[in-house]
Amino acid sequence: MTSRSLLMAVAACLMGCVLTNVQAATLIYASRLIDGRNLQPQTDVTLVVNEGRVQKVVPGFLSPEEGDRVLDLRRYTVLPGLMDMHTHLMSQHSKESYNEKFFMDESDYALRSTVYARVTLMAGFTTVRDLGDNGINSVSLRKAINEGWIVGPRIFTAGKSIATTGGHADPTNGLKGRFREDADPVDGVINGRDDARKAVRQRYKDGADLIKLTATGGVLSLAASGQNPQFTTEELQAIVETARDYNMTVAVHAHGAEGMKRAVLAGVDSIEHGTYMTDEIIALMKERKTFWVPTNMAGEWVAKKAAEPGYFPEIVRPKAAAIGPAIRETFQRAYRAGVQIAFGTDSGVSAHGDNAHEFELMVEGGMSPMEAIQSATFTASRLLKVDDRLGALLPGMTADVVAVEGNPLEDISVMRKVIFVMKDGVVHREP
Ligand SMILES: [Zn+2]
Repeated sequence: MTSRSLLMAVAACLMGCVLTNVQAATLIYASRLIDGRNLQPQTDVTLVVNEGRVQKVVPGFLSPEEGDRVLDLRRYTVLPGLMDMHTHLMSQHSKESYNEKFFMDESDYALRSTVYARVTLMAGFTTVRDLGDNGINSVSLRKAINEGWIVGPRIFTAGKSIATTGGHADPTNGLKGRFREDADPVDGVINGRDDARKAVRQRYKDGADLIKLTATGGVLSLAASGQNPQFTTEELQAIVETARDYNMTVAVHAHGAEGMKRAVLAGVDSIEHGTYMTDEIIALMKERKTFWVPTNMAGEWVAKKAAEPGYFPEIVRPKAAAIGPAIRETFQRAYRAGVQIAFGTDSGVSAHGDNAHEFELMVEGGMSPMEAIQSATFTASRLLKVDDRLGALLPGMTADVVAVEGNPLEDISVMRKVIFVMKDGVVHREP
């Protein structure tokens, strides 16, 4: 080969390489864009999406280049993909739920969860935390979604919640003799520091992303108290210390004040429900920057069902009737006091796909619509420690984009009217 033909070959290759590297972009036209960070929406912008990421946000409506795809969402409000910090994709409560474990195989749970995952994504929730299933089905669900076998939200799962014997999330509570066997740290039931460490390590081995524990009694468990403390300070400390070794955060179910206070002092990352939060605990949470995931929807749902004769077993009903309405009052008080609030619904108690109703309850409780939206974007991404890539539509961030009909800043209920969903740059729902 002469030096001239070599030069031409190199030039041709370079041009070819450049040409094949020019990827067609997706241009999203938005007349109103809430980006998850700014408190004011942007008007008349183009979101340029390339290879699953937001490349840039530019003023005006860019003309497409050869091969570009245009998604005209100018009739809608465009937002970052929504993030629900408290779901249970393995279940959805019904009168039959207490019997399910005797009639459902693991494969039944897994297959059914694919339906819940899909409706969650279609409701605009591109990321969820799954806070407790009956085993490791949510780990398999996460894999199936990540592999592209099925569609669903990006999942950060806790696997099985950690409980103490007889506590909320002890899987053999309320059963007759031989079924009421002793559960162990592998099942997520602990007693003492060593068990606590082992249970965390087991979750890590199972592939969980974070730890969930049930620091107080709970409404739906077949046990008398909905709020007594169920972990010692030593057990809580052992869990938090061990979780830190594995770079896992700790989410804590708590209704009663004593268990909640012990958990906050032990350094956990989030309090879930927080029903009987005292002013002292509010001050501690602000000081320690503990997140609160209020789950107003769960409170509303259990209170409604408690009024329906025969819906709950008799040991559950009075807890549901008392705890449900209490969350409302706590929300107003803790919000005004300035606790950092991340969005969470406890979906799986209420129906999957209804998640956006929580926005309405948060606004009823005193939040502005923009704050409520940020609780499900920016604040949630900080709780998950993924604010470098999720929860905002800024250059370099993952292209999780949703659009709703109307203006949620004027009428928050339009968050229920999701008409467009993109996750990782892939469109899953279109007008
Ligand atoms: Zn829950």
